[in-house]
Amino acid sequence: MGTDDPANDLLQLRGVGVKFREQLNGIGIQQVHDLLLHLPIRYEDRTRLTAIGSLSPGMRVLVNGRIEYSSVVFGRRRALLVVLNDGTGLIHLRFFYFNQAQQQAYKAGGHLRCFGEVRAGYKGLEMVHPSCQRIRQAQLGVVEQQTLTPVYPSTSSIKQHRWLQLTDQALRLLHNDQLKLPELLPTAIRQRFQLPSLRQALQTLHRPAIDDDLPAILERRHPAQQRVILEELMAHHLAMKRLNLQLQKLSAPALPNTQLWQQLAQQLPFKPTAAQLRVIAEIGRDLARPTPMLRLLQGDVGSGKTVVAAAAAAMALASGQQVALVAPTELLAEQHLHTLRAWFTPLGIDVAWLSGRVSGKQRSAALAQIAAGGCLVVGTHALMQEGVTFHRLGLVIVDEQHRFGVGQRLALRDKGGGSDMRPHQLIMTATPIPRTLAMTAYAGLAVSVIDELPPGRKPVTTVVISSERRTEVIQRLADACAAGRQAYWVCTIIEESEQLVAQAAEQTTEALRKALPQLTIDLVHGRLKAADKERVMQRFRDGLSQLLVATTVIEVGVDVPNASLMIIDNAERLGLSQLHQLRGRVGRGSDAASCVLLYQSPLGHMAKARLETMRNSNDGFYIAEQDLKLRGPGEVLGTRQTGIQQMRIADLGKDHHLLDQAIELADAVASASPRAEQALIQRWIGDAASYGEV
Ligand code: ADP
Ligand code: MG
Repeated sequence: MGTDDPANDLLQLRGVGVKFREQLNGIGIQQVHDLLLHLPIRYEDRTRLTAIGSLSPGMRVLVNGRIEYSSVVFGRRRALLVVLNDGTGLIHLRFFYFNQAQQQAYKAGGHLRCFGEVRAGYKGLEMVHPSCQRIRQAQLGVVEQQTLTPVYPSTSSIKQHRWLQLTDQALRLLHNDQLKLPELLPTAIRQRFQLPSLRQALQTLHRPAIDDDLPAILERRHPAQQRVILEELMAHHLAMKRLNLQLQKLSAPALPNTQLWQQLAQQLPFKPTAAQLRVIAEIGRDLARPTPMLRLLQGDVGSGKTVVAAAAAAMALASGQQVALVAPTELLAEQHLHTLRAWFTPLGIDVAWLSGRVSGKQRSAALAQIAAGGCLVVGTHALMQEGVTFHRLGLVIVDEQHRFGVGQRLALRDKGGGSDMRPHQLIMTATPIPRTLAMTAYAGLAVSVIDELPPGRKPVTTVVISSERRTEVIQRLADACAAGRQAYWVCTIIEESEQLVAQAAEQTTEALRKALPQLTIDLVHGRLKAADKERVMQRFRDGLSQLLVATTVIEVGVDVPNASLMIIDNAERLGLSQLHQLRGRVGRGSDAASCVLLYQSPLGHMAKARLETMRNSNDGFYIAEQDLKLRGPGEVLGTRQTGIQQMRIADLGKDHHLLDQAIELADAVASASPRAEQALIQRWIGDAASYGEV
C-alpha cells in the first residue's frame, strides 16, 4: 500500500526497495510514521561491564576479557567454544553458527567484549551466541556505549541493525519537520499529567539519551513510556467504543416470546439456580430488543451455562428464528447435541447436527434441514464454512470454553443475511475475563456472570505427584473403582498431532488394562469415528466402564456425576485454564472428588507455579488472574492469532494501572475534538480497526 503523503512513503528511505516495503507492510508497517511507532520491546544495558566472577544465570550483561581457549568442539552439535577470562572468573561462549572469519577473530590470546544472557551450562556458566566485538588489550575495562541499546520486536528476518537504520532515518525526518506526526493530546492534559510531547517521547524511546533516567526506562516507568502507552490505550478504548456505537445502529429480530422457555423450565431435571435465572432474564431483555445482543456469559466450569444457552435458544425458536450453537471440539458439540435433544425433542423442536466429520448424504440432509429453518443447529466450527446457508438465523451461541475466538465469532455473524440485520450473539466462557481486560478488549460486550454453582457441588481436592510414584496412583485408582466410583485418565503429549496423541493414549490404555485387569477400561480420542465415540461415552455414562482414558484433544467434554477421580498425566505440559477446565469434569456428583496431577520431574519454574496454583485453588477467577500473570494477556485472550488486540507498546498485564486514566483522557479528547479521536484511532490501529467492524 502506498501513501498520499510522499514524506511518509517508505520507499524514500535508504535500504527500502519495493520488496522490502512489502515485507514491512506484511508486519503492519505501511508508512514511515508506523516505523516511529514500532517501538523497542526492551533495552539492553551495555553501559556497564560486569565482572565475570560475579555472574549468575539469567543476567543479561556486558563482559570483556582475554580469550584463553578457542576450538571447534563436537558434542551433540558442532560448535565453536571460546573461553573468556577477565581475571575474576571464566565464562564459556558457545556458537553453533559461525564462519571462518569469526573462528579466526576469536583465536586464543585475543580480547573480546560480549553482550549476552548468562546460562548455566554443564561446565559452568556460558553464553550462547553473545554479540561480540574484538577489542585491543588496552580497551579492556573501557566501555564505549553510554546509553541503552534498544531492542526492536522482530518476528521476521529483519535484523536489529536494520531496525536501527530504519528508525534512525524516520527520527531524522521527524526532527527536520519533513514528517508530520501531530500532537493529539491537548497541552492542558499533558501539563496536568506531566507528559512529554509525542515527538520528545518517541525520541527518548527509540534513542535514550545519556542524561535520560535510564533506570526508569529499564523499569518501564519513564514519562515517555507512560505517555505513549496512555495514548495507545486511549486509541483502543475509542475504537472499541466506536464499534459498540456501530452495533447499536444495526438491527436484529426482536425475540420477546418466553413461552417456550417456560415450558422447557417445567421439564428440566433440576431447578435453575437464582444466578441462572438472573442471567436468563438479562439475556431475555436483550433479545426482546430489535438491536443485536453481544453478550458474554461467564461462568465457572460446571456452573450450568448450558441451560442458559437453551433458554436463549428457546426464546429465538419461539419467534420462528433459527439458532446455531457452536462448540470448539467435536466431543463438546456432541455433548450439547445430546443434552439439547433430550430437552427440545419433547417440545417438538428438531435439533440438527453438523460437524466436519458429517459427510456425503448425511451432510446434504443436514444442509437441507438447516436451509429449511426453524430448527436448533448444533455443531463445530464447520457451521461457519461456506456452503452452510441458514434460514432466519436469529441467534448465534458460541461455547468457547477457555478460548476466545474473536475472529470466528465474526464469521458466523455474517451469516445473518440482510445488509444491516445481524443475529444476536451469546458467547459462553469458563474463563473469567479480569476486569481490566474486559474494559478494553471486550468494551463492546455486555457481560453476564453466573456466580453460583448448582447446589451440592464439592470442591475438588487436588494433589500434585511425581510420576515416579505412578504405581501408588494406580493402586489408588483401583481402590476408588472398587468402591464404585468412576475415573478419568487424561493423556497429554507435547506434539500437537492427533495421531501421536492417540497413539500415546492407546499405549497408556494397554498398560492400564494390564495393571488393572479387574476394571473395564475404555479409550476415547479425537480420531475415533463419531459413532464409536458416542458408544464409548454412553457406556461410561451408563456405568458400564469404570475408567475412561481420554486425550485433551477432546477436552473431556463430558458430564458424568459418578466420575469423581481424575488423573492428568504429564500435567506440567498443560496451561492453567486447560487444567481447570479438565478438573471441572469431576466434583459434579455426591462423592468427594479428587484430581491427581502427575508430573515428570524436573519441573520448570513456570510449570511448578501452575501446578501450585491448581493445588491451592478451585476458583476459576483466581486461576484466570494467575494465568494472566504467568502468560500475559495476548495469550489469555487468544488474540495473538486474530490480530485484533495487538498492541504496539501497551501491555494490559503490566500497564493496567493506566487504564482508568486512559479512559478518562480518551473520553475528554473525543468530546473536545472528533477529529483528534479519528486521528488517534487511525494512528495506533489504522486499518486493523475495520477488522472488528460489526
Ligand atoms: P458448564 O457448561 O457451565 O460447565 P453445564 O451446563 O455442563 O456446566 O452443567 C454442569 C452440570 O450441572 C450438568 O450436569 C447440569 O445438568 C447440572 N446443572 C446445571 N444447572 C443445575 C442446577 N440449577 N441444579 C442442578 N444441576 C444443575
Ligand atoms: Mg459447558
